[in-house]
Amino acid sequence: MSVEQTGPLPVVAIVGRPNVGKSTLVNRILGRRAAVVQDTPGVTRDRIAYEALWNGKRFTLVDTGGWDPKAAGLGASITRQAEYAMNTADVIVFVVDSSVGATDTDLAAARILRRADRPVVLVANKVDDERSEANAAELWSLGLGEPNPVSALHGRNSGDLLDLILDAMPEAPREQEEEGGPRRVALVGRPNVGKSSLLNRLAKDERSVVDSVAGTTVDPVDSIVTLGGEEWRFVDTAGLRRKVSTASGTEYYASLRTEAAIQAAEVAIVLLAADEVISEQDQRVITQVIEAGRALVLAINKWDTLDEDRHFQLEKEVERDLSRVKWASRVNISAKTGRGVDKLAQHLRAALASWETRVPTAELNTYVRQLVQETPPPARGGRAPRIKYVTQADVRPPRFVVFSTGFLEAGYRRFLERKLRERYGFDGSPIVVSVKVQS
Ligand code: GDP
Ligand code: GDP
Repeated sequence: MSVEQTGPLPVVAIVGRPNVGKSTLVNRILGRRAAVVQDTPGVTRDRIAYEALWNGKRFTLVDTGGWDPKAAGLGASITRQAEYAMNTADVIVFVVDSSVGATDTDLAAARILRRADRPVVLVANKVDDERSEANAAELWSLGLGEPNPVSALHGRNSGDLLDLILDAMPEAPREQEEEGGPRRVALVGRPNVGKSSLLNRLAKDERSVVDSVAGTTVDPVDSIVTLGGEEWRFVDTAGLRRKVSTASGTEYYASLRTEAAIQAAEVAIVLLAADEVISEQDQRVITQVIEAGRALVLAINKWDTLDEDRHFQLEKEVERDLSRVKWASRVNISAKTGRGVDKLAQHLRAALASWETRVPTAELNTYVRQLVQETPPPARGGRAPRIKYVTQADVRPPRFVVFSTGFLEAGYRRFLERKLRERYGFDGSPIVVSVKVQS
């Protein structure tokens, strides 16, 4: 078994109206037909990402075409695509149908893309022969530089296009540029579990982050904490210290703050208290972390209060109430005595490593093929769906897309998820398994 643990790959996003040939281009780049995907009701409608390889360079190719134009209108939909691409991609490939020319929708998208602070490669698609080259030249009018005439269908000039995309790629992918510093941690949990006590204990090694706005010093928002010989950025600690005491709406406010901290973080420590039963409110915080797709470490605080009876009781509660997050590692700590606090670092590191794990496509398919052979998906209405191909579309957290000839029941998806965990671990990270139906 080989699991690569590399950083994020550079991202190339494909943007364009429906029918300009985005999927055809994606297939051309990938050299197979995996991207011809119909959105089927009940099946995930996400944008879809593929791992691509050209001249020995790996990158992630994102087909942003999955937005539902009916939901928001075509104009709004393409605007969202363009904005999404500008926020996430390293290179944006804007595809226009040169046999139609620039439509109003194309012009609207181009207006947004002109503001992009990263390379935009303009593709004049459907230039199937020399005669049509003139159509491509008209697309200079979009104000995005030289149109690159391509026939995605026949492969004409597609190699040149890929060279151009690779040339436009930055040396280091954008995420790494932005992050660089200490890993970002959210310390969350319902009121009174001991968040500020834990922070105070950690703060003996703390170096405050001071953000200054126009020369005046404002409250530091985050704290840099040294833990396990490494610096960590605990996000939104200002919120933790400044306790809200108004009676009404406190819980609502706390949950918004929790959400903000989770969104800003890569990994969350969910704090629970050993001296109280695991409550609904605890469960909601855990759910927030999973739904945000962040890595998770469970820390049971106030371990110093345990007597034998309560210990026994607590183990039963954990078994019963935390079974859905069996994959999350658990640390028993006491903010009061300092017990176990040092162990947090190793658990944070392990959870982040899982969160960033990328399983090579070939290895993944060999494994899944074997699984499916042993346990095929159950038939519905006579015919059993056939699983054609699996790809890991994303990391942080790992997201897998299963291409199948039919709908896969939730039970079978959970089976696949369980088997993926059995083999690759992913301890401390949520994983997502979604299905794309291809007939
Ligand atoms: P998408 O909606 O942007 O993903 O577009 P598709 O890839 O589904 O293509 C829409 C239609 O245009 C299909 O019928 C394709 O076969 C056709 N098409 C795509 N690329 C080319 C091309 O380079 N030349 C020609 N003539 N047709 C193309
Ligand atoms: P927060 O609301 O989550 O920030 O919780 P606090 O840090 O304010 O702690 C709530 C209460 O639990 C305080 O009275 C703390 O002194 C107490 N507390 C926090 N951690 C521990 C611990 O590890 N052991 C014990 N016995 N009490 C603790």
